[in-house]
Amino acid sequence: MKLSELKPGQSGIIIKVMGRGAFRRRIIEMGFVKGKKVEMLTKAPLQDPTVYRIMDYEVSLRKSEAELIEVFTGEELLPANEPGKLPLVLSEDKLLSLANEQSKVINVALVGNPNSGKTSLFNIASGTHERVGNYSGVTVDAKEGKFKYKGYTFNLVDLPGTYSLSVYSPEELYVRKHIFDGTPDIIINVVSASNLERNLYLTAQLIDMDATVVIALNMYDELEKSGAKFDYQSLAEMVGYPIVPTVAKSGKGIPELFDQVIEVYERRSPIARHVHINYGEEIETGIRHVKKLLKEEDQIGIDTSCRYLSILLLEGDKVGERMVAGLPGAKKIFKERDIHVQYIRDDFREDVETAFTDARYGFIGGALQQTFKAGKKDSLKITHQIDKFVTNKILGFPLFFLFMFVMFEGTFILGAYPMQWIEQLVAVFGNFIDRLMQEGPLKSLLIDGMIGGVGSVIVFLPNIVILYLFISFMEDSGYMARAAFIMDKFMQKMGLHGKSFIPLVMGFGCNVPAIMSTRIIESRNTRLITILVNSLMSCSARLPVYLLLVGAFFPKHGGLALFGLYITGILLAIIMSRIFKKFLVKGEDLPFVMELPPYRMPTLKAMNRHGWDKTSQYLKKMGGIILVASIIVWFLEYFPQNTGRNRFYDERISEIMTDKTLSAAASKQQIALLNKLKKEEQKENSYIGKIGHFIEPAVKPLGFDWKIGASLISGMAAKEIIVSTLGIIYTGDGDNDTLLKKRLQTERSPDGNLVFTPLVAASLLLFILIYFPCIATVAAIKNESGSWKWALFVVVYTTALAWLMSFAVYQIGSL
Ligand code: GDP
Ligand code: MG
Repeated sequence: MKLSELKPGQSGIIIKVMGRGAFRRRIIEMGFVKGKKVEMLTKAPLQDPTVYRIMDYEVSLRKSEAELIEVFTGEELLPANEPGKLPLVLSEDKLLSLANEQSKVINVALVGNPNSGKTSLFNIASGTHERVGNYSGVTVDAKEGKFKYKGYTFNLVDLPGTYSLSVYSPEELYVRKHIFDGTPDIIINVVSASNLERNLYLTAQLIDMDATVVIALNMYDELEKSGAKFDYQSLAEMVGYPIVPTVAKSGKGIPELFDQVIEVYERRSPIARHVHINYGEEIETGIRHVKKLLKEEDQIGIDTSCRYLSILLLEGDKVGERMVAGLPGAKKIFKERDIHVQYIRDDFREDVETAFTDARYGFIGGALQQTFKAGKKDSLKITHQIDKFVTNKILGFPLFFLFMFVMFEGTFILGAYPMQWIEQLVAVFGNFIDRLMQEGPLKSLLIDGMIGGVGSVIVFLPNIVILYLFISFMEDSGYMARAAFIMDKFMQKMGLHGKSFIPLVMGFGCNVPAIMSTRIIESRNTRLITILVNSLMSCSARLPVYLLLVGAFFPKHGGLALFGLYITGILLAIIMSRIFKKFLVKGEDLPFVMELPPYRMPTLKAMNRHGWDKTSQYLKKMGGIILVASIIVWFLEYFPQNTGRNRFYDERISEIMTDKTLSAAASKQQIALLNKLKKEEQKENSYIGKIGHFIEPAVKPLGFDWKIGASLISGMAAKEIIVSTLGIIYTGDGDNDTLLKKRLQTERSPDGNLVFTPLVAASLLLFILIYFPCIATVAAIKNESGSWKWALFVVVYTTALAWLMSFAVYQIGSL
């Protein structure tokens, strides 16, 4: 707990002294060091300051000072709901050793440019599997991880990437707030060695902040490959931050990096010191004058660097201004600031912000001049050569479409082989249970419900993994950023942005993370439209339905049909976003800035992990929502059983069996017919039959029977459930060996016509592509757009659009 939280007479062991600069020095000189025991004596009449005893001295500290000292009393170990109830008796030694353990917790934040390798570093250090991709803006949330190393516990936070900390974008604000409020003990500044100048700009701002930093010089492999010479040790001494070369992709240098973190944390590093960037005569004078006034303020947080605050004020930083606005001397301070801003403007003949930016780049440029010698080899040669083709005006688009086509063709064709094996496994398993069990509801639940439902979906696992591998290859290699780049013009015509393209392609995998990734888009309007049309991108949950129907009714042109469906979704997204842009969310557009990172060969390890992650996610979905839904659908389909009618059919069947006048073949045929009729009648009258018949009028004009209608309703939870429901409702002749595909192809309605024709299948495919995004997506839309209004809007417009499209296709096709 904080020292300020101690009660009179209570004592604790100091485990951490936060804060910086002069304050820290003074506090430590007074004897407030790690491992020492402090006792609280009394509070002054006005609650502040408080008198403490340390090493037999009595010292008074202000509350704001005592808040920066962390102590361990032993009380922390008691359950939170009844602190102090249990008298905890700890020997002095035990308390000391526990305190020692507590002091070995280091909070570390990863800060750096987008795409500098923060998440890769985070993953390899903490053993987690956060998303990595070779384009800006993959990480949108702070992610936390924990691990132990050399007796220390590290709490690691992966933050979104930023180029600076000047509070322009939500990310920058977020990172700065985390540095201020989250008070990490150490910041690891991840610097990409392949672009030092730009990356070190952020470092310069950290220096201004007087933050405690260790620099991870990441992508060191690329620097070495380029043949560059970099005396990073000297640079480390210039900036006062230890620098450790790392290759986050492979884990090289990571132990050394955390060794340095420990050194700095324990204040043993010979390199760590506070450096001032020299902003030149005029600006420094301004800083000095404003700082002097700030120093006179009593209320300024003890932990804020007055120099940093002065810089913020001179730069016109809004957050800095807010911090000062409430002070008694605010007026005087702002007046002084304005005077110096004017001086600087006159001197530089440009605005103050630019003067600061130039000075920072000057500092970096100077430091690099002395330490860095660029390599002869153009490390980006390959990248430039590939880009000549990929971003080429004429070749760019065909190449992109070719890649997309290969992706869908591959998904369809490559996936077909393992799919057959799984199909056989499912059939073998079903037959095994069939022979094992007695007829009855339990057997029906197992075979028709669980195996029929889950089994019909699980066969598509290979296809989905293949699709994901294609998408993650695009992300990891850097192609995604190019695709967004060549699409920018086109996307702008849609009323969107090049950056919108990435969430749209990611939507092919799953709409939920895709909608979250829209956070890379700066403009609120563009972001909203991208969210609204995202569910038109066919996610991988729709893939099983497509594969089933395409495989059954368009087997000759499978890949092409699949491609066509995806294209239809994209076209609709284009049309809808134009409409939304025009009528719903009007507004200004921001110019397009999209980085093109160098191509990087995705590591096999990463690809493998993507594959496994998806496989296990898919299996979890099978064991979870799909299984539950299958059981519910089975229940709705199996009950109620009409015993009277059952007996009627059973009696007819036994009559035929005993009828000697019939030939064996004829009797077999009649029995089969009766069995089928019995099943049909039972289904018609089951709960699901009632639901299906209820909505049948709505779906009949689209060419669907009540069974399809019922499947569509169940598919609202997750689209794969459409397949599992079809698997349960269309039992065919009760022969479990027959593949669902075959059953669909041969299913006839009571009037003897085939239920599914290619036209019905096409209409159904379209409907499933467009209608109701799954529940998880609706929730994601609500979260990211900030209101249920938009979530509801998407539900309504997609369902209406789906109906209209299918209606048009079916009616026109029927002519
Ligand atoms: P973040 O945006 O800072 O979180 O960066 P990521 O961790 O997502 O990594 C961006 C890209 O750089 C990915 O393609 C990584 O595989 C790649 N990468 C990360 N670290 C290294 C490294 O040390 N060397 C090389 N060559 N590539 C790296
Ligand atoms: Mg990241």
